[in-house]
Amino acid sequence: MAEQKRDYYEVLGVDRNADEAAIKKAYRGLAKKYHPDVNPGNAEAEKKFKEASEAYAVLSDPEKRRQYDQFGHAAFEGGAGGAGGFDFSGTDFSDIFGDIFGDFFGGGRSRGANNGPMKGANLRTSIRITFEEAVFGCEKEIELTVKETCKTCKGSGAKPGTSPETCSKCGGKGQVVFTSQSFFGTVRNVQACPDCQGTGKIIREKCADCRGTGYVPMKKRYAVDIPAGIDNGQCKRLPGLGEPGTNGGPRGDVLVEVVVGRHPIFQRQDYNIFSTVPISFAVAALGGEIVIDTVDGKVIYDVKAGTQTDTKVRLKGKGVPTLRNKEVRGDHYVTLVVEVPDKLSHEARELLRQFDAESGDSLNAAKNLQKEEKTSDPKDSKDGKDKKKKFWK
Ligand SMILES: [Zn+2]
Ligand SMILES: [Zn+2]
Repeated sequence: MAEQKRDYYEVLGVDRNADEAAIKKAYRGLAKKYHPDVNPGNAEAEKKFKEASEAYAVLSDPEKRRQYDQFGHAAFEGGAGGAGGFDFSGTDFSDIFGDIFGDFFGGGRSRGANNGPMKGANLRTSIRITFEEAVFGCEKEIELTVKETCKTCKGSGAKPGTSPETCSKCGGKGQVVFTSQSFFGTVRNVQACPDCQGTGKIIREKCADCRGTGYVPMKKRYAVDIPAGIDNGQCKRLPGLGEPGTNGGPRGDVLVEVVVGRHPIFQRQDYNIFSTVPISFAVAALGGEIVIDTVDGKVIYDVKAGTQTDTKVRLKGKGVPTLRNKEVRGDHYVTLVVEVPDKLSHEARELLRQFDAESGDSLNAAKNLQKEEKTSDPKDSKDGKDKKKKFWK
């Protein structure tokens, strides 16, 4: 060994029990201070930067850290990095440096080199349904273009009579390891094999029907069971009907977004329904039965005598069924609005005048005030004028 290495915890200046965040923070500080970009030509800074980066590469990786805690520097001696170099592969510095500094850890670092089974992508679509369909649920059909296994090649992608060959570049593993020279010496990179795009197989003669992909686009119709209580913007998931997975992974899902149409009289908020119902002056004053529209149809409601306009009533359980249990429903809130008649027959007018004379004589309030002024004491007249002014304001 050329030189005694310093303890990694000591290098970063952190406690042996330091958590991931503390280690990252310590390294970020040192990296900014000693980074070669800010210390050009400074060999000492360069050495410190290397040392800190190495310590971070080990301590930020739970497995490496465990090995280091157990065996010390011996854990990494004679590693893949080769003489004098430290193996930085597997350490992600990107979130430390972001775009502040250039890439010192070897170009072409690639994620997604994994060639294990991967779930396919989700497909999204939307359907329009009515207010009532959202409330009570419905069955709808959607049409989608999905990738189906090519029948000609049974999904292999190879021309019938031929079969895919094992990729010679990666030996069928789908990954290639290459080394590059960087600031730290030799860096090992793992990438998806460029020859076979990570599949591990090479198709010499492609199937004409699917152009070697193993899949052909197909229009499919699916029945979608929309549950009672679904709301605008919510999605119904159809598991396993999306894009095919790769390397034997399962298909993705289909997500059907529900777009609920507006209703002419009902509004919805969560599981409650709101509407406004006009009532006549006679019903408001005398009380009586009215008919209210609900999502369950017409219901009869008994209005109390003396009901004021904008009175809110609750029709319990007449709201939207909950998604979890359709037997449990929200309520329907009705705002009763007293309507003023604007087309009256001659008789109705007369009757209304009689009614008014009987109930406070509001039609003659102004006239009566004037009369009052004339007959009242002169010294009160000033008050009377004020009253009049106020009235007309
Ligand atoms: Zn094919
Ligand atoms: Zn390959």
